[in-house]
Amino acid sequence: MTLIDKPEKIPNEFVDTPIQKLIEYHNCGLEHKNYDKPQLVIGTCMDYRIHLRIPDRFAFIIRNGGASLVHNDFQLAFALTVGGCQAIAVIGHTDCGMVNLASKQDLFIDGMINKLNFSQSDANNLFRTKSPENEIYSEIEFTKKQAQQLKEKYPNIPVIAMIYEVKDNLLYHIQ
Ligand SMILES: [Zn+2]
Repeated sequence: MTLIDKPEKIPNEFVDTPIQKLIEYHNCGLEHKNYDKPQLVIGTCMDYRIHLRIPDRFAFIIRNGGASLVHNDFQLAFALTVGGCQAIAVIGHTDCGMVNLASKQDLFIDGMINKLNFSQSDANNLFRTKSPENEIYSEIEFTKKQAQQLKEKYPNIPVIAMIYEVKDNLLYHIQ
């Protein structure tokens, strides 16, 4: 992963795209400009630590556990067509809760039962049926794979894979 903390470090393929602006706004402190239409569609995690420093009306943001866009093909296409976005940024993050869900199984099921009043069997079933499709195994690999798939799907749309480091709140490029 590479920190792009200066505009000169932005890879050529992203220069003059909304991805360049995302990096400049978030990592380089570029002053926010006014937008009247969205430029970029961002897929990121629902995690509470992710706070993107971007201008109002700059981006569509699709948030899901693990920054997964697996179930958002329609929304992505919508943002690119009806929304008019010109690029995609997939932003995973460090310390993502969707990695190693098995280690959180007891906490999840205990909470479903004791806090949310689910029965033991309903709680078990929810975890058993839904955790496999939410598990991402590795933030970096999962984010990279999703960006690769989107590049193949939309070859004329710039797509970047990035990781939001929750320790410094900066965006790192995954090559
Ligand atoms: Zn996460």
